[in-house]
Amino acid sequence: MSSLSPEEIQRIIERVNLRLGESAGGSGAALRGQTGLDEAGDADLGEGVYGSVPDAVAGAARALTAFRGAGLDLRKRIIASVRTAMLEQKERLAEMAHAETGLGRAADKVVKNELVTTKAPGPEDLEPQTATGDRGMTVTEFAPFGIVGAITPTTNPTSTIINNTISIVSAGNAVVFNVHPGAKQVSAENIRLLNRAIVEAGGPPDLVTGVAVPTIETAKELMHHPDVRLLLVTGGPAVVREALKTDKRAVTAGPGNPPAVVDQTADVDQAARDIVLGASFDNNVICTDEKTTITVRGVADRLVPAMARNGAYVLKEHELRRLERVIFREMGAPSRPGSIEPAWVGKNASAILAEIGVRVDDDVRLIVARVANDHSLVWTEQMMPVMPVTEVTDVDTAIELARDSEHRFGHTAGIHSTNVDVITRMARAMNCSIFVANGPTYSGLGHGGEGFCSFSIATPTGDGMTRPRTFSRERRISLVGSLRIV
Ligand code: NAD
Repeated sequence: MSSLSPEEIQRIIERVNLRLGESAGGSGAALRGQTGLDEAGDADLGEGVYGSVPDAVAGAARALTAFRGAGLDLRKRIIASVRTAMLEQKERLAEMAHAETGLGRAADKVVKNELVTTKAPGPEDLEPQTATGDRGMTVTEFAPFGIVGAITPTTNPTSTIINNTISIVSAGNAVVFNVHPGAKQVSAENIRLLNRAIVEAGGPPDLVTGVAVPTIETAKELMHHPDVRLLLVTGGPAVVREALKTDKRAVTAGPGNPPAVVDQTADVDQAARDIVLGASFDNNVICTDEKTTITVRGVADRLVPAMARNGAYVLKEHELRRLERVIFREMGAPSRPGSIEPAWVGKNASAILAEIGVRVDDDVRLIVARVANDHSLVWTEQMMPVMPVTEVTDVDTAIELARDSEHRFGHTAGIHSTNVDVITRMARAMNCSIFVANGPTYSGLGHGGEGFCSFSIATPTGDGMTRPRTFSRERRISLVGSLRIV
């Protein structure tokens, strides 16, 4: 059952409808019809949303029977229809996600939905590979696995569901979602909309399913279900560990703590602007957002005022002490992560500042604090718009601190420098799935940078930016002595 009270559910419904410019005073049934909630606040069943894991898997299995062998043209039509529908719904889903989770900024969630919808690769990613020579021809093709079980986070609920669906279905699979309990309503609505788009394109119903009331137990049930061939897990360390304990192939997209190094050769104004934009994107809840800034001696004195000119509020020493008491449940020991107070994850900078008695406008996007190298903020994945800036003697020490404070997750890191040797040195040392030079780290997601987008970056299992090929089995055919035609 829902952990929300009926009053809270009603508030979410009203906020969603108000933001959609619709009347908040309509009948309960009409409002519920728009948000997909039943009397208890749980998602309505139907259009891919099921009451149990076995039912959701069985639905996906039926869809797969119809989908198997249906051909690439149908897949292309389905993905085109999904892209059209998700572009139409990007604002509504962003508003619903923001209202339900209380995390991030609705406007940034619109950008995220659009980014994955337009830049996640489709079936074109499965272009076969050919080798020909004196001994004939070999073709490698990309085959589906079957049913993929996907676990999604509360931080990017809709962008992850859209992204995972495009990747998994493009590769000819069906997907069963166990979403984060804190985003179950918007996620169920997203699953329904995806189903509708797939059926409109001529695809089978239930190619995308999920459970109405997801819990840790249903996540585990999905992970161990015998008909699930492959897992895609996006979340923190606990869920990654859980997936790697199963006997299935698991693609795991785990946590990060992305550092941004700024050296003495950097364009400091641009670095300041980029870090403010990157670290405040959706209030820092994205795993790739900058979470620590490390400067070479003398640079912070120029960088921090430039960050203030670009929309950051710089904390005074006594304000930092107050902030620590608010945002940490427990500060970490020196050079260790602390435990973050979840109530402040993903909140606006102005709300966090108000709690320590500082009044600023909502257009202040980031809180900046100068701290020592061993301060807990440097070592913690804070997931809120609070950016520690710490200084070291030289760029090699900066790279070393970046590598250690990222905990060698190998997830995401960035540098601002005009020295190509230094950029190369740090890229090698960090050994990350995403490394960005001279831009916000979101450029590595294809936002303002080149390349395709993914919101499941599978660092622990080495798959990197997930794409249709990630959810495919490579199969080859060799024709010995024939079909080389030259
Ligand atoms: P979370 O780990 O709390 O939850 C993620 C999902 O896992 C949810 O669906 C949750 O219900 C489930 N879950 C959690 N613990 C579980 C367990 N023990 N067994 C089974 N299921 C479990 O994470 P969150 O707060 O939703 O998301 C933030 C975290 O996810 C951050 O650490 C962030 O870096 C990471 N993340 C990584 C990526 C990536 O692409 N690498 C993308 C988004 C988020």
